[in-house]
Amino acid sequence: MKQTFEFERKLNTCPLCKSNKIFFLYAIVHTQPSFTVYQCNSCKFIFMNPPLTKKSELALYDEGYYTGKTNYTYYDERDVEHFSQYVWNARLKTIRKYVKSGNLLDVGCSFGGFLQSASRYFTVYGIEPSEYSGKYAQQRFGNDVIHVGTLFDHPFTENSFSVITMIEVLEHIRNPREALTECYHLCKNKGLLVIQTANMAGLQAKLQKQKYGYFLPGHFSYFTKKNLTETLTQIGFRHVRVFQPVDFGLLPKLLKSRMNFKSINDYKNWLRIATYHYISKIHMGNLALTSSMVVYAFK
Ligand SMILES: [Zn+2]
Repeated sequence: MKQTFEFERKLNTCPLCKSNKIFFLYAIVHTQPSFTVYQCNSCKFIFMNPPLTKKSELALYDEGYYTGKTNYTYYDERDVEHFSQYVWNARLKTIRKYVKSGNLLDVGCSFGGFLQSASRYFTVYGIEPSEYSGKYAQQRFGNDVIHVGTLFDHPFTENSFSVITMIEVLEHIRNPREALTECYHLCKNKGLLVIQTANMAGLQAKLQKQKYGYFLPGHFSYFTKKNLTETLTQIGFRHVRVFQPVDFGLLPKLLKSRMNFKSINDYKNWLRIATYHYISKIHMGNLALTSSMVVYAFK
């Protein structure tokens, strides 16, 4: 059955800095549905405009999304948790250089794979808007631990988390400033917010323009290193550190990549992954060769 998607009214201001100096940037036609993005002239933030309705947005994340049967994902995360653990454990090692223990909240926790790894050190909680994956995570950890909903309707109390993670989640949120402000309130003093999202100032995104693969109908918000860092500082975080490409080394990535391997020949992909990893380290100010970044914000 062909899905029909609907869009809301066109926005007149930038969702990140609220400036009205916004302009049409690209029509994204390689996706279903196709959509248009605008850019803010003041802060360079790129956003879907007009945005999908909430109903159409939810329709993107049905069972097909999670079981690898739609265009937007290609495997069932539950089948590959064993491989993903290399990356999750490496990330936890870096997080624990700053915060050893306490309450950890994973926003967009999906089936709860990362929370399972994190539960060795932290008391874990999760927020997941998808009923399909959120209910699965609830069965795993309990209904009080996983909130099926959003950052704007959760039952958790302010100043209660030592660590909050948003891994490839912020781009899915249509009102990112409000979401980041809510994370700030949920964080304890000296707490840490970890964000992984694309840096659209990277050369990779700039050269590929409207064909860049990160432009997807589930992605409302496209940051640069500069405007994300500035927003976090404006909200109140006292220190922001950016890792490029990611907050761990090459080895966990290589080990995780084996989940897609079908024969010994696939090991030649390691050369490609290693090349990407090392060229991603080349950056100057807001510019970088690739779009990969992970941001640590300290309250
Ligand atoms: Zn702006």
